Amino acid sequence: MKLFVANWKMHKTRPEARAFVEALSREIESRPPSGEIVIAPALTLLDAASDPAGRWSLGCQDVAAEREGAHTGEVSAIQCFDAGCRWAIVGHSERRREFGEDEALLARKLARCREAGLVPVFCVGETADERDRGLTESVLARQVSALSADPPGAPLVVAYEPVWAIGAGRSASPGDAGSARAAIRGLLPDRAGLRVLYGGSVSSDNARGLLEGSGVDGFLIGGASLRANEFAAIARS
Ligand code: PEP
Repeated sequence: MKLFVANWKMHKTRPEARAFVEALSREIESRPPSGEIVIAPALTLLDAASDPAGRWSLGCQDVAAEREGAHTGEVSAIQCFDAGCRWAIVGHSERRREFGEDEALLARKLARCREAGLVPVFCVGETADERDRGLTESVLARQVSALSADPPGAPLVVAYEPVWAIGAGRSASPGDAGSARAAIRGLLPDRAGLRVLYGGSVSSDNARGLLEGSGVDGFLIGGASLRANEFAAIARS
C-alpha cells in the first residue's frame, strides 16, 4: 500500500487544523484514497488533526535525542507516542540545516523512536551543489549510515528528499527519484520492511507520473499537504 505523509511544518492554528480535518473527511467520503495517510502537524495540533474514525494516523516532525530529563523545550519520542503519534519524521533537511543535525545525533533520535514504538520516516537527500558535483550517492550513503544500529527487522520509511526540490516548485524527475530509490534500497539490502518515499514539490499534477516512473512507495508532502483537496488528490494518485 502506498504511503502519503503530510508534513505541515510550522503551519496552521487549531481552528485551521479542524477545518482541514472536516475538508479531508469530505474528500475521503466522496472518493476514498487507495493509500495509507499520515499527518505530521505541529505538536500543538495533534488533537485537532486527529481522526476519530481512524482513516489516518498521526506523526511528529522530530523527537528529542534524549529519553527524558532536564532538556527544556524538547519533546521525547515517548511523549509523542503518548500524545497519539505512531510515526516520526527524523532528519528532515530543514532540521539538518537549521539545527546542525548530523548522523550521530540522528542515530540517537532513531533509537528513541524504536524505544517508544514510533516508525521513523528518515529523510535523506543531497543539496544542489552536491548533486552538481556528482555526490548524490555518496551523500545518501553517509546519511543512511545513521541507520546502522537500527534493528533490521523493524518497519522503516526512508524519504528521499533532494534539498533543491523542497519547496522549490520543481520536483526531481521520475528517473532521478527512481535512481535514488534504487540506491537507498541497495544501501539497505537486509531491510524487508523498508518503504522508500519521494519528497520535494509533489503536487496533484506530478504525483501520478512520479509514482509510476520512479517506483517509490509514496510521498512525503510539504506545501501541497496544507490543502485538503490537493492532499487528497495526491493520495488518490
Ligand atoms: C518537505 O519539506 O518535506 C517537502 C517535501 O516539502 P514540499 O512538498 O513543500 O517541497
